[in-house]
Amino acid sequence: MSIYDEKQQEIAEKINPKSRMSNWKDWKWQLKNSIKDISTFEKLTGIRFEKNERNLLEKTIAKFPLSITPYYLSLIDATDYKNDPFFIQSFPSPLELEIEKYEMLDPLSEDKDSPVPGITHRYPDRVLFHISNICSMYCRHCTRKRKVGDQDSIPTRDEILEGIEYIKKTPALRDVLLSGGDPFMLSDDYLDWILTELRKIPHVEVIRIGTRMPVVLPYRITDELVAVLKKHHPLWINTHFNHPSAITDSSKESLRKLADAGIPLGNQSVLLAGVNDCPRIMKKLVQKLVQNRVRPYYMYQCDLSEGLSHFRTPVGKGIEIMESLIGHTSGFAVPTYVIDAPGGGGKIPVMPNYLISWSTNKVVLRNYEGVITTYKEPDSYERIFCDGKCKDCKLHLKLDKAEEIHAIGIEKLLSDYDDAISLIPENNDRMERRSERKDNE
Ligand SMILES: *Cc1c(COP(=O)(O)O)cnc(C)c1O
Repeated sequence: MSIYDEKQQEIAEKINPKSRMSNWKDWKWQLKNSIKDISTFEKLTGIRFEKNERNLLEKTIAKFPLSITPYYLSLIDATDYKNDPFFIQSFPSPLELEIEKYEMLDPLSEDKDSPVPGITHRYPDRVLFHISNICSMYCRHCTRKRKVGDQDSIPTRDEILEGIEYIKKTPALRDVLLSGGDPFMLSDDYLDWILTELRKIPHVEVIRIGTRMPVVLPYRITDELVAVLKKHHPLWINTHFNHPSAITDSSKESLRKLADAGIPLGNQSVLLAGVNDCPRIMKKLVQKLVQNRVRPYYMYQCDLSEGLSHFRTPVGKGIEIMESLIGHTSGFAVPTYVIDAPGGGGKIPVMPNYLISWSTNKVVLRNYEGVITTYKEPDSYERIFCDGKCKDCKLHLKLDKAEEIHAIGIEKLLSDYDDAISLIPENNDRMERRSERKDNE
């Protein structure tokens, strides 16, 4: 028996003297016995808080509720809990009550970009579909803290149908990202229903699910659940590991089941002060992930949600971590570092600079070791002028509707077939001045 099993047994017995390991591994038992108050937390961990601290903690959870699965609680090292990554991610800190001026309730404007309840349509070809507003554990660093524990915002069956209807009537949507909350909080049957409805829509090419279950409640990944998921391929899953120690035997087992079902797995981690703001920890994390067939996908800069200031690092910390990953370890173990733009601009990748300089026929680059090198560009390159008429082009695209081309953003500035010379932000002072000038002319 590993040390965790003993500790788990001990916690299980404190919850109920009659409980067995089979109860522990039952995800419904775990949910039913999730820790939601300070006293139970103290009882199960042996950690004690002083009266003043307790008062502050109570105030904190009145605003941002507490919920920890017994499994996740068993990972906390009570002897050094203040520095423990599991404690920090799951246990409230009174610092959450300190709201900075620049923080926002909904920094990503998910509610503003929502055509129907539950749907955030930000990008041209994909949507975020919130099908659950509940989670098995409330991560303290949650970007959707505003909604945590808000029972009223659990989508009803009718609301879900409204979301499905929106996807149905929007043919541009080829990728649907089920998120929440945690979609795996829903029953297998309910999920099966949603996936079946989505699969009936011809233009939905892929479905993605974002879940933290392999991290916080790996027993949720049952054979029954996997059997349901397998029916709805191509299905991708992204999970949310932030620290290498979270990849326990139970987690590995859940990842193995999903990967064996042919589900490509990705991981989205958040850069968190005091948890993983360290190149060595991040390197260990990404290497352990790929060992378990999980591809590191994104590393997020912590959002500007209210109450997260104590978790945020400077962007430079993320760049430093990327510097220590790119070239130093397997390319497929390196995530893309992104900042999700406040106001709804979406994810913006940021990287160290590798392109040092450039002339008309040569670029100067540097590698991860600091070697400065040149790449000689071709002296003659037969540039293909693109008028957007793919049918007459010598390159073979051979797609139906190939003519329906229309560029967006920087792509538009680079294209031959669109004569835009600048992208002009609207509603700013400069634009205001321009329109005033026009009025005076
Ligand atoms: C992150 C996100 C997506 C998915 O973006 P990818 O870069 O394709 O993973 C889609 N919609 C919204 C609103 C998102 O925040």
